[in-house]
Amino acid sequence: MSITFKQLDIKGLSELFSEEADCLKFLAEKKWASGFVCNRCGNTNYCNGKTLYSRRCTRCKSEESATAHTIFHRCHIPITEAFRIVYLVCHDPSVSTYELSRLTDLRQMTCWKLKNRLNDCIKNRGEIDILYNEK
Ligand SMILES: [Zn+2]
Repeated sequence: MSITFKQLDIKGLSELFSEEADCLKFLAEKKWASGFVCNRCGNTNYCNGKTLYSRRCTRCKSEESATAHTIFHRCHIPITEAFRIVYLVCHDPSVSTYELSRLTDLRQMTCWKLKNRLNDCIKNRGEIDILYNEK
């Protein structure tokens, strides 16, 4: 799947990413598009991890979730809501975090944190790339 959030309209967004599984599948496909490589030991063999679309290294047993090392890294909000925020910021980078909070069911502080990350990403890359990982 090579869609970008900018190409989606709100209908497309809700059709493609209404379920947590859809979002995680999308992230996993993007992240491991050229194959799985274990972050810890470099092994390329994996089996399914404990959580949906996570992968587990068959050598060192370390497990990586679909959201790890993406812009949703350690982002403890429902992934469908996080996708909504990315969508909203993509279409209107000047949207306020209060507005984001109103449009989703998230607290303003939560929206602020994610939006900050997205802004960083736009600043450094010129666009929102879900594989962006802050240092
Ligand atoms: Zn490993």
